[in-house]
Amino acid sequence: MTFNQLNLKEPLLRAISEMGYKEPSAIQEQSIPLLIEGHDVLGQSHTGSGKTAAFGLPILNNIQPLDNRKTRALILAPTRELCLQVADEMRKFAKFSEGIRIVSVYGGQPIDRQISDIRKGSDIVIATPGRLLDHIRRRTLRFDNCNTVVLDEADEMLNMGFLDEVKEIFNVLPEERQTILFSATMPKQIADLARKIQKDAKHIKLSSKQLTLDSIQQIGYHVMPYEKNTLLIQLLEIHQPESTMIFCNTKKMVDELTTQLNAHGYKSVSIHGDMKQEMRTSVMRRFKEKKVDLLICTDVAARGIDVDSMDMVINYDVPNEIEYYVHRIGRTGRAGREGTAISLITPRQKGVVRDIERHTKQKIEIANPPTQKELSQLTVNLIDKEIQSGLANTSPYLEVVLDELYKKGYSSHEIVTGLLSKVAENFTLKAINPVVPSEKKKSKTPRNNEGFIGIVVNVGKKHGISPAHLVSAFAEAGSFRGKEIGKIVIQDRSSIVDVPKEYESILLKKLPNSLINGKAVFASSITNKRKRRPRK
Ligand code: ADP
Ligand code: MG
Repeated sequence: MTFNQLNLKEPLLRAISEMGYKEPSAIQEQSIPLLIEGHDVLGQSHTGSGKTAAFGLPILNNIQPLDNRKTRALILAPTRELCLQVADEMRKFAKFSEGIRIVSVYGGQPIDRQISDIRKGSDIVIATPGRLLDHIRRRTLRFDNCNTVVLDEADEMLNMGFLDEVKEIFNVLPEERQTILFSATMPKQIADLARKIQKDAKHIKLSSKQLTLDSIQQIGYHVMPYEKNTLLIQLLEIHQPESTMIFCNTKKMVDELTTQLNAHGYKSVSIHGDMKQEMRTSVMRRFKEKKVDLLICTDVAARGIDVDSMDMVINYDVPNEIEYYVHRIGRTGRAGREGTAISLITPRQKGVVRDIERHTKQKIEIANPPTQKELSQLTVNLIDKEIQSGLANTSPYLEVVLDELYKKGYSSHEIVTGLLSKVAENFTLKAINPVVPSEKKKSKTPRNNEGFIGIVVNVGKKHGISPAHLVSAFAEAGSFRGKEIGKIVIQDRSSIVDVPKEYESILLKKLPNSLINGKAVFASSITNKRKRRPRK
């Protein structure tokens, strides 16, 4: 189907063709004819499916230029960014339509400026609920002639707690009107609201079968939770993606990951629901303008944010809701481009992944983590980056140090090699351990099994240590389940805990940062069986 078949007026066809739209998306194809005819529409489809044009084109098509500058159409959006985004898109659609003024009103901008803007004409108003109520109370906006209302991203309005404000707004709108409601998901409160504000609405739902995930390469890596960061960095090094969204399930994880990635030299920014509107806008701008490559976010914060040409979407955490998965990865591979979606799958999440595959009727290809050989080649790139950032931050003091070193007789080459040998270790990417398939679950842990190693810690009976203390401290430090721990020997001043060998390095790294029953921990490993006999 083409846009020409949708009965749109010529100036609109010209505008969308200039914007590069070739054919209508599924939601556009279904809703545009109904909306032009004046029906109410309740539409549900995922982010990026083209909902703005689905309601925007019919509004512009049906609106009659009037001289009285009264508002004919109102579009409600949950956030300032979405407001601006919709306004921007609408102005592009209206490029060749004469005499239609589009204004946007949202919090965070001086109201006086908005009022003077409105005075110039406000045929179509795009607004966030709170600020719109301000204007209604000040009588700077009137809706007596408004016969079309859109509630965009309705579920997000609900998430942000705007439902009461939305209802209040509907109280002042004329009874006779066309009401359009679009939402990515359809929680009960939204369905209830729709029933109240709409009349004989036509329901349009894009089922997951119609989702356009075809152009997205979906890849999964099985990984233990504590190796996610390592793997993520390796994948970023290998793919070098430019515009990438990384999704976490919690705000806390978003913050932690952003800090870690920045510490590793990846320019990354984060966005989550707790952030002030202005902050979110500025973060989004930097990401859209490609000043930063990585945007780390939660589902709610990212909703509706439209960024063109996303290289990659990474599910650092696999989402617990299938719909979220689809929304997330639907952001890449848009408009005919190829996209990549990578998911880091921990053993516990294998079931969720199977559900996702069943729901989307598409397979997530499981890939092997990068091998040591592949990773070694990356070390040079990493050190290269480090040198570049170092050279960008040298100080005169270093010149003095360097002079002193030359005086001592070192050559440049010696200085470089000596220092390099110190830091190279930090940049050597180590392959992660393949995850043992859960099918081969080891039943009762065999004691002193070959795959085990003893970890000695400096706490024992004298410190009131029980096996439970050790199990929980070890399981936490290594991010594994207590069940995986083998034999435990508690002595007077120390204890030996047998753990699967693959956890040795993480435990030796993490245990010293923890407390066991309030005592700071030293840890070392023993492999030699003879040493394992309790000392007297
Ligand atoms: P949604 O509101 O469903 O999340 P948008 O309306 O923001 O989606 O559209 C997502 C992106 O797709 C925008 O950049 C938009 O310009 C583009 N787009 C929408 N419809 C089409 C189309 N028919 N052809 C090409 N690009 C389109
Ligand atoms: Mg939208």
